[in-house]
Amino acid sequence: MSSYRIQGATGEWEVVIGLEVHAQIVSKAKLFSGASATFGAEPNANVSLIDAAMPGMLPVPNQECIRQAVKTGMALNAEINAWSRFDRKNYFYADLPQGYQISQLYHPLVGEGAITIDPDEKAGIVEAKTIGIERLHVEQDAGKLMHDQHPTSSYVDLNRSGVALMEIVSRPDMRSPAEAGAYLRKLRSILRYVGSCDGNMEEGSMRADVNVSVRKAGDSFGTRTETKNVNSIRFVMATIESEANRQVDVIEGGGRIVQETRLYDPDRNETRSMRSKEDAHDYRYFPDPDLLPLELTEDFLAACKAELPELPDAKCRRYESELGLPVYNAAVITADVETARWFEELVVETGKPVGEVGRTASNWLISDLFGALNRLGKTIDGSPVSPRQGAELLGLIADGTLSGTLAKQVFEIMLETGIDPGKIVEERGLRQTSDTGAIEQVIAEVMAANADKVEEYRGGKDKLFGFFVGQTMKAMAGKANPGVVNDLLKKALS
Ligand code: ADP
Ligand code: MG
Repeated sequence: MSSYRIQGATGEWEVVIGLEVHAQIVSKAKLFSGASATFGAEPNANVSLIDAAMPGMLPVPNQECIRQAVKTGMALNAEINAWSRFDRKNYFYADLPQGYQISQLYHPLVGEGAITIDPDEKAGIVEAKTIGIERLHVEQDAGKLMHDQHPTSSYVDLNRSGVALMEIVSRPDMRSPAEAGAYLRKLRSILRYVGSCDGNMEEGSMRADVNVSVRKAGDSFGTRTETKNVNSIRFVMATIESEANRQVDVIEGGGRIVQETRLYDPDRNETRSMRSKEDAHDYRYFPDPDLLPLELTEDFLAACKAELPELPDAKCRRYESELGLPVYNAAVITADVETARWFEELVVETGKPVGEVGRTASNWLISDLFGALNRLGKTIDGSPVSPRQGAELLGLIADGTLSGTLAKQVFEIMLETGIDPGKIVEERGLRQTSDTGAIEQVIAEVMAANADKVEEYRGGKDKLFGFFVGQTMKAMAGKANPGVVNDLLKKALS
């Protein structure tokens, strides 16, 4: 259990959180029309007659969108409803020409499922926890209004209008901002593994409605508010924090929480009331008469199942048991599908049994490569070093051609030039030397130049040993094998 509590004047308060995530489905075309669903086109370039709601146009469900949603449901261990139906949710909004959104209220495509969030002691999550999923349904997105381009006019871009969304509704099972953050990270990871959503919150392809209430431990649930369209994990966590504190202040001040829709303002780090909460009946939902119920065949469901990749939790466990990775490494690498793909290629390229190289390769990936990518502001799919080059570098370390220090030097050159490590070693003479004759000669020179220190060392000042190692390595431009230097120095100094 999480121990996150808000300290109020009247005692400790527990926070209850449920998230409704809108995830844009990866597909070429929109949910009910053939217009392109690509992000970033010229305004209104991707609008078909259906999206513009011209009279007489009829929607046709896009099978690819349904396939993506079914696979996502399966990845969430959820029950798939082979029979589901589309409903109209009626409201006026200038960026949805139909005057209603086609959604699924009464018979969603996907029923109950679950997501397991991982322990994270720093965040106060002491053990793995299962967060219930209530449902997943498919619906249309709306377009975009722009109010700030002209003093007296507003513009509408309908490119997004009709694009397919999955709405994934959690149970009110989260109890801290950290748990909500972990839930969103795990959900995004699963969506990216399945390939059903790119999870890009900056571009709006994943956004969350944040439901928050507070209660004293043991009480029944309090009244919740819903903060709409929060578009980063950090903002979701900040929304919960500020909204829960606001609710505690209101209640302790003698007030009452009203169920309403709020907006998060990141500049002021606070939520503001937008409108009082509407209920389902306000929208006059009814089955869309233009669409037949969606009936999925056994074959279709079996094909969806067969297309599912190995998912992050299973992969993480396999990395631990089969590849012998430390839990931490396994979790970090499997959290992102691209990283896992890169790592698996790296291991194959080493040509060694995984048990032998897995741990070293994972350490190198997490510390050296991640460090470099961070510095360069790149992600793993834009890595300037390929898995094959990484494997070659690891091979040069394993066979003693490169010491740790030299390997770091070679890696820096790889990042800058993209040249293979073997070639860099040849061209720049960066090979590690274990030539005892050459090393002994340098040691003799270092000792001669520092006769006073040799005296002190022999008089018992052991700490000076590091100084001699440093001097010898420096004189050999970092190329001496550190193990050999250590052994020879001990002998020479004693
Ligand atoms: P609605 O249909 O009015 O949107 P739902 O029952 O579908 O309401 O719940 C919407 C979201 O609100 C879900 O994610 C659910 O987990 C969450 N939720 C429900 N009750 C509470 C509560 N008391 N506190 C926090 N979240 C809640
Ligand atoms: Mg809802």
